[in-house]
Amino acid sequence: MGYEVHTASDTDTFKRAYRAHLPGRIILDLQLNGCDGIEFIRYLASEKCASEVILVSGADRRTLTSARRIGEQYGLKMGEVIEKPLTIESLEGSINKKPAAIANFKKADILAALAGEQMTAFFQPQIASHKDGGWSVGGVEALARWNHPQFGLVMPDKFIHCAEESGIIAPLTDYILQKSLHYVKQWEDEGVKLSVAINISGAMLSDLSLPDRIEARVKKAGVSPSQIILEVTESAVMNDINGANDILTRLRLKGFELSLDDFGTGYSSMVQLYRLPFSELKIDRSFVMDMHANKEAHVIVRALIDLAHNLGLEVCAEGVEDKKTFDELINLGCEKMQGYYFSRPVSSENVLPMVKQFNSQRSTRKAGL
Ligand code: C2E
Ligand code: MG
Ligand code: MG
Repeated sequence: MGYEVHTASDTDTFKRAYRAHLPGRIILDLQLNGCDGIEFIRYLASEKCASEVILVSGADRRTLTSARRIGEQYGLKMGEVIEKPLTIESLEGSINKKPAAIANFKKADILAALAGEQMTAFFQPQIASHKDGGWSVGGVEALARWNHPQFGLVMPDKFIHCAEESGIIAPLTDYILQKSLHYVKQWEDEGVKLSVAINISGAMLSDLSLPDRIEARVKKAGVSPSQIILEVTESAVMNDINGANDILTRLRLKGFELSLDDFGTGYSSMVQLYRLPFSELKIDRSFVMDMHANKEAHVIVRALIDLAHNLGLEVCAEGVEDKKTFDELINLGCEKMQGYYFSRPVSSENVLPMVKQFNSQRSTRKAGL
C-alpha cells in the first residue's frame, strides 16, 4: 500500500520507534510482550500522540471496543478495531477508511449555516407494534444534517458538539424543531399523522423558559404536543438532576412525551429514573447492535426492556440493523424500534413514500414472519 513500516514486539523498541518516526498510523496488538495494550494507550496519550491507532486483538470484541473507548477517553484518534486472525483484507479495509477531510467547524460557521438555511432535518422512522402483531411507522426522529456547499452532507457528530460548547445549541434545536413542525403539519394535511422525536441537548436543561418556548412554537404550528417526543440523553439529565426535573415535569404537564435517549450508557440509578417523568426509555444502539454477537449485550437489552415495563415506561430499541434482531426484540416484548433494517434517516420529501410503502406491507410484518 506504499507505507513505510516499522515493527516492534516489546515496549522499549516500540517507544524508540515511535519517537524516531512519529508514524501516521499505529497498529497495536493489545497483548504485547511485557506490556498490555492499555498501558501503551496511556503512554501514547502522555506523548500527545496524533497518529491514528488501530487495535488488534484475539480478545473478545467487547474487550476490544472497551479498549478503543479508553483510547478515545484519553483523546487519541482511534481507528477501527480488528479481531484476530488478522487478515490482509481486514487490515486493508481499516486502513483504507480514511477519515473524511472535514474542517473543524467554528461557531460562526454554524450560525452562518443556520442563517443561510444550509441546516436541515432528516427523518428516521420509528415503527410501533399493534395488538394484532403487525408493525407500522408511527413516527419519526428528526436528525440534524448540514448541507454543506463544500463537504456535502455533514453528520451531526461533526458539529453538535461545537454548537453545545459555543452556546448556540438552543438556536440550532429551535431551527430543527421549526422545520420538523412544518413537515409534521404538512404530512398530517396529506393524511398521515406522525409523531416526531426531537433531540434536546443537556445544555438546554438549565434554561427554565424552555417549556414555554417549545409550547409556543408547537401551538403556533398547529401541532398537538402529544405528537412531539423530546429526547434527552441520560447523561444530560444526570448533570443537574433537580433543574432537569423541573423542566421535564413542566414539559410533561404540557402534554409532551419524554424519552430517555441512549439509555444504558450513563449512570442513572433506578431510583433517579423512577423519579423523573419520562414516558419512554430508548435503549442505546451499542447494545442493540451487539445483541447477537455478544451474550452480555443481549442480557442488558432484556433487562432494560423489563426495567422499563416494570416502571410503566414504553421502550424503544434503536440500532436495529437486521431481521434477526427485530425478531429477537419482538420475543423480548419490545414495542417500538428504529434502525437501518427499517430505513436509514431520509430527507423530508422521502418520508411519506417511505411510510406508505412500509405501512402497506403491514400485514406481512407480523411477529415471527
Ligand atoms: P441519537 O439521538 O441517538 O440518534 C440516533 C443515531 O443513530 C442517528 O445518528 C441515526 O442515524 C443512528 N442510527 C439509527 N439507526 C441505526 C442503525 O440501525 N445502525 C447504526 N449504526 N446507526 C443507526 P446521527 O443522525 O448521526 O445522529 C447522531 C447523534 O447526534 C444523535 O444520536 C443525537 O445525539 C445527535 N443529534 C442529531 N440531531 C440532533 C439535533 O437536532 N440536536 C441535538 N442536540 N443533537 C442531535
Ligand atoms: Mg435521539
Ligand atoms: Mg440514541
